[in-house]
Formats: sequence, C-alpha cells, structure tokens
Amino acid sequence: MNKTTLLHEGKAKKVFMTEDPDLVIQEFKDDATAFNNKKKGTIADKGVVNNAISCRLFTMLEAEGIRTHLVEKLSERDMLCRRLDIIKAEVVTRNVAAGSLVRRYGFEEGTVLEDPIVEFYLKDDDLDDPLMIEAHAVALGVASLDELAVLKRRALEINAVLKQFFADRKLRLVDFKLEFGRHHGEILLGDEISPDTCRFWDLETNEKMDKDRFRFDLGGVEDAYSEVQKRVLS
Ligand code: UDP
Repeated sequence: MNKTTLLHEGKAKKVFMTEDPDLVIQEFKDDATAFNNKKKGTIADKGVVNNAISCRLFTMLEAEGIRTHLVEKLSERDMLCRRLDIIKAEVVTRNVAAGSLVRRYGFEEGTVLEDPIVEFYLKDDDLDDPLMIEAHAVALGVASLDELAVLKRRALEINAVLKQFFADRKLRLVDFKLEFGRHHGEILLGDEISPDTCRFWDLETNEKMDKDRFRFDLGGVEDAYSEVQKRVLS
C-alpha cells in the first residue's frame, strides 16, 4: 500500500490517502507541541517510538475485543489504518488527578480517583479545545447522545484493559486521551495511544514518563519515551 495525496497534517502526524479509498497511512513525526502550539520542539525518534507503542497497544486492544482503525504497522513511522470520519471530541479518561483537573478544580496532584472520570473536549484549536458537556456536543452536531454514551463506555473498557497492561509493566496510567471515528456505520478507536497522549508515572518512583517532561522542561524526554517503549514491547 502506497501513500498518495496528503489528506491532513496535524501536530504529530501526517495522514495520507492510499490507492484504497477505505485506507489511509498515518506517518508519525518527531515534532512536539504543547499548550495548544504555544510550545514547539522536536523529540528525537518520537515518531518511531509512538508508532511502535500505538501499534502494540491497538493490537492488544483488538485482541480484547475493542475495534480500532489499525490494519497493520507498515514501517518504522507508518501505520496503515481504516479511514475514519473523525468525531470532533477528545475523550479524556482519568484515574489519578493531574494536569487540567488539578488546574481547574483544585485537586491535589496524585489524588487517586475512586471512579475513573471521563470528559469530552471539543476538538477545535481556535477555541483551545474547550471542555464540553454532552448537551454542547449534541448542539454542536459533534455526536448524538447515543454515540456519546458509546464513547464513554468504550473509554472505560479501554481504561480497564490499559490500566492492567501498564501496571504489569510497572507504570501507572494516570490519564489519557482517545479519539474515535465512524467507519461504515461502526465507531472505531482512532489516532494514537502514546506518551504524547497519556500520562504515565513509574509505579515505584512516581517519575513522570510522558510528554509532561517536554511540557515542563524536566529533561530526559527521549529516555522516558524509549523506556515506555521498552516496557510496552516487553
Ligand atoms: N491530551 C492530549 N491532547 C490534548 C489534550 C490532552 O493528548 O490536546 C492528553 C494529555 O496528554 C493527558 C490527558 O489528555 O494525558 C489529560 O490532559 P489534561 O486535560 O490534563 O490537559 P493538559 O494538562 O495536558 O493541558
């Protein structure tokens, strides 16, 4: 399968059409952004690492009965995917308080949430991806109430699988962002799951092993990403 025209270039990936209208190729880049593009940089080999991690996680989720857009890993940076009509919602699931939950609601960072929290954010950079309640998403035509219920259920199922998977690899899954899309009447998990889109803390030391190292200039970004890759592929 070959790349034809560029369909979309995002912050961390390019998406290309292929000869098959149902299939696209996601190419993972080393570019890194944070705070809605206000901070920019590159993380050496991030594209290679995030593609490897995402392909492994999607394959594992498929084996657990969760349908994803992954068809196959084509090369170091390229993932062959089913083409999705992306739902303009970022679905964030949280097990431990961090990031905007701390900023917005005053939780103490590290507070374990008794039940996971699922939130929807509108995918719109111009508006800074605002948090939205279901009624906003319906009124905006982002998704129907039924679809939102499916997204929430799917996010919680994925959380249960990922939490255990990462705990077995001595990583705490603090929170993560998912994107879904429609494909021939079915809702599939899309995008990526990687240290760019998740928070991972080392289970023993609580060391941050994700994009927060880049966001807050903590150093050791590449080492953290490759350590996550090593544990995920183990
Ligand atoms: N996240 C993401 N893309 C975004 C916003 C958030 O992948 O555009 C991920 C982020 O890496 C974290 C989780 O979603 O794992 C929750 O992010 P949060 O709402 O705490 O926002 P942040 O503090 O990262 O701005």
